[in-house]
Amino acid sequence: MSRLDSFIRRMTSQKILMEHLVDRVNEVEGPILELGLGNGRTYDHLREIYPNKEIFVFDFTMDCHPSCAPDAEHMILGDIRDTLAFCGPRVGAKASFAHIDIGSADPTNDLAIVHWLAPLIDKRMAVGGIVMSALELDLANFEALEKPEGIHPGRYHVYRKT
Ligand code: SAM
Repeated sequence: MSRLDSFIRRMTSQKILMEHLVDRVNEVEGPILELGLGNGRTYDHLREIYPNKEIFVFDFTMDCHPSCAPDAEHMILGDIRDTLAFCGPRVGAKASFAHIDIGSADPTNDLAIVHWLAPLIDKRMAVGGIVMSALELDLANFEALEKPEGIHPGRYHVYRKT
């Protein structure tokens, strides 16, 4: 498969899954965490499909398309390894949804990321809250959710805190 095909498949899966989860996420109180602003595409989509939820966005820097810039209160700058651990006073309630899009292109680096990320995300999620991640996470207090048709196996992982 070409990199173009792979990219299209990834973007399509992201959109299908995000929209598939809306009703379940809306059953849970709490803000949304967007880990990885990047260009702001998925943040822009999240704010469209969750007009009533507060969305906090994490990244090293704000380097997105100008139309997708979160306001200062909701843009949490720095290494997620630090900011996710200390965002409680600012974010407040535990999260109803976390979208994690911070994988690297290197499998060893990805292993290191999931090692520090899993316990941090566990602490920030509400019971019933849903995590959608491009990286597979070892989350003891979560169940894996079924994905809708059209999502390539292994492409995305969806977990719900029990
Ligand atoms: N979801 C975004 C979009 O739709 O445009 C794309 C996100 S991009 C693939 C990944 C982003 O995660 C990059 O902007 C990178 O700076 C950020 N990132 C990766 N690891 C991070 C970390 N440890 N702390 C903060 N930001 C991180």
